[in-house]
Amino acid sequence: VSFGYEEVAPEEKTARVGAVFSNVARRYDIMNDAMSAGMHRLWKDRFVRRVKPRAGEDILDMAGGTGDIAFRLARSGARVTVADINPEMLEVGMGRADARGFDTLVWSEANAESLTFPDRFFDAYTIAFGIRNVTDIPAALREAHRVLRRGGRFFCLEFSTTLWPGFSEVYDFYSHRIVPKVGKLIADDEDSYRYLIESIRRFPDMPTFARMIGEAGFVRTHVEPMLGGLVAIHSGWKI
Ligand code: SAM
Repeated sequence: VSFGYEEVAPEEKTARVGAVFSNVARRYDIMNDAMSAGMHRLWKDRFVRRVKPRAGEDILDMAGGTGDIAFRLARSGARVTVADINPEMLEVGMGRADARGFDTLVWSEANAESLTFPDRFFDAYTIAFGIRNVTDIPAALREAHRVLRRGGRFFCLEFSTTLWPGFSEVYDFYSHRIVPKVGKLIADDEDSYRYLIESIRRFPDMPTFARMIGEAGFVRTHVEPMLGGLVAIHSGWKI
């Protein structure tokens, strides 16, 4: 499997991704603002509007990290479980939840590829900027399908490939030249940000990823590109 710019054994990728997020956890939120010029907030707002969370629903926010999606979902009154493989990211998230008065969230250390939640438990499953870091993506999609109830919905927010002419060159320059430098400046970690950029470049394009969601058993799969597909919302239903 690929770890950004290198081919590595599957266990090795999981370990290295762990190290990346342990390294950046404390500076993760400020980095998101710096790298996206604050745009990640708008993408996340739109994502949660598409999910349409409702009071009383059970929602699993997988790869939930420091809670950005979970906080937005929880405002609806939904019961939200934040799951992530990285305890440091969860710890930062729990601190943020305390500071903001979100006391109903459940925080759970879990690998998206093999969950301990029961079958057909959740009404919705969300994963934002998480799936491309997962080593075995088909396994994670099958697990998403398993833990959802019938009528449950799957939503994924992820970087993809922009189809806008000219834009991809600008983006390539920005991501390969600027992002690692900003990563060094703010988080003192150039390599982690190099990995994150490479993992975006290697992620399957929109039709391919939509097909993978279908192969996991979801129906009515749908893609909503933003900025020509620089970022995309993929969704599907379990019936
Ligand atoms: N969803 C949050 C957001 O949008 O701000 C965090 C996104 S962060 C870029 C990616 C997260 O994926 C990290 O917290 C990382 O620990 C988590 N992650 C990576 N591999 C995972 C796996 N196999 N299972 C669960 N979480 C994983």
